[in-house]
Amino acid sequence: MPYDLVVIGSGPGGYVCAIRAAQLGMKVAVVEKDKTFGGTCLNVGCIPSKALLHASELYEEAGHMFDKMGIKLGQPKLDLPGMMKFKDAGVDGNVKGVAFLFKKNKIDTFRGAGRIAAAAKVEVTNGDGRIETIEAKAIVIATGSDVTRLPGVEIDERRVVSSTGALSLDGVPQRLLVIGAGVIGLELGSVWRRLGSEVIVVELLDRILPGMDSDVCRQVARMFERQGMTFKLSSKVTGIERAGNRVKVMLEPAAGGTAESFEVHVVLVSIGRVPFTEGLGLETAGVKTDNKRRVIVDARFATNVPGIYAIGDVIAGPMLAHKAMDEGVAVAETLAGEAGHVNYDVIPNVVYTYPEIASVGKSEEELKQAGIAYKVGKFPFTANGRAKANLQTEGFVKILADAKTDRVLGVHIVGADAGNMIAEAAVAMEFGAAAEDIARTCHPHPTFTEAVKEAALAVDNRAIHM
Ligand SMILES: Cc1cc2nc3c(=O)[nH]c(=O)nc-3n(C[C@H](O)[C@H](O)[C@H](O)COP(=O)(O)OP(=O)(O)OC[C@H]3O[C@@H](n4cnc5c(N)ncnc54)[C@H](O)[C@@H]3O)c2cc1C
Repeated sequence: MPYDLVVIGSGPGGYVCAIRAAQLGMKVAVVEKDKTFGGTCLNVGCIPSKALLHASELYEEAGHMFDKMGIKLGQPKLDLPGMMKFKDAGVDGNVKGVAFLFKKNKIDTFRGAGRIAAAAKVEVTNGDGRIETIEAKAIVIATGSDVTRLPGVEIDERRVVSSTGALSLDGVPQRLLVIGAGVIGLELGSVWRRLGSEVIVVELLDRILPGMDSDVCRQVARMFERQGMTFKLSSKVTGIERAGNRVKVMLEPAAGGTAESFEVHVVLVSIGRVPFTEGLGLETAGVKTDNKRRVIVDARFATNVPGIYAIGDVIAGPMLAHKAMDEGVAVAETLAGEAGHVNYDVIPNVVYTYPEIASVGKSEEELKQAGIAYKVGKFPFTANGRAKANLQTEGFVKILADAKTDRVLGVHIVGADAGNMIAEAAVAMEFGAAAEDIARTCHPHPTFTEAVKEAALAVDNRAIHM
């Protein structure tokens, strides 16, 4: 009997889609080519990077902050293999969790590379070359993304690494050069700086974190510099040469000019990710892609071929796990005849550095470009009681609200735990809240979240503690 749905790929998009479809009564199969379930996010993305960020943050805190809090431990010692074990245990627990959920929801799993042979047929080639054919009424492509390569630069995952190699280095590089000042470059750059590397970040554009609110970018760039990171903005890497256990990197101003070179021990190439569709048979199935190799879908995640859908990093939109998950739920609900929907105006984005950087909704630049009149309410953590008590006063909350209606259009937070705090803003925006609604909501004291309330009050120039 054919399946109602076969999902190709078990990352956050695919596994969540499969579970939701099974909850809705569908007979579901998942195809995964890798050894473990969970995709990029669980194996070589969100989870291992956050484990290393957590451990390295505590390591740095133990070295620099404990003393100030009356805790005498002496200089902490790094046990890198131990830290990697901690990271691997986090990954293991999560990927096993997905396997458990598949079983619990009676989802059949097929190990091997899936290829769409026809609209209702997926061929799975497993490790020993055996081919199995699965028939299904609907196919969801959730094959995710892969590292973008720099032309002419070979990634060996030892000296020249992608994010995957940077999550598993066997020693702390004395000097690390990061190409790309996006989320992944700054997060992994932070990990290795905390563990002892000198970190130089090269960025083609004139700012870090392109796409984020520029006020936020300016301020966090200064914070990262104070922590010891060096930025080479408006610069491009023109060549990389390996010399023994060193790598020589040639740099040039983006606009042209005098070249310079650096000798470093490891280079991290983190210039973005590209949709992964290799071997999927999209051409033979007739599934259309755009000029960035993303599968083209309509508002219901349907491709141009009836019965074939796509979600997650392989389609347009922010390459984020929670975006992929919400699309997985939406497509499963649509297939079950329900009204699946994703609100792309309210997708939070978090950079898990210290301080964390989190945003949801529009930036000031986007509002200006759209000609929308807005008010700004900003509140610094230097005026927040809990932040002062914890000596964690870096950062601020900034709320952008419609000048006429007071509706919240964007929230940007820089600070300890910003990633957790942004969820409140997302809920408020999903409910169409005005800044006044947040301002009148009782927030627990003493917490960092009071800064969100104060920023909402500041929209109307009536913050209390400032
Ligand atoms: C270092 C790093 C840190 C990140 N941190 C975060 C974060 O903190 N928060 C966040 O939201 N996002 C983060 N991301 C991004 C996040 O990992 C992706 O957005 C997310 O994994 C996309 O989910 P997906 O289901 O679309 O694809 P993926 O997770 O990429 O999963 C795709 C799966 O499909 C499988 N597959 C591909 N082709 C086939 C085939 N033909 N047959 C069978 N299986 C196939 C792959 O093996 C893979 O398991 C991070 C990414 C990286 C690299």
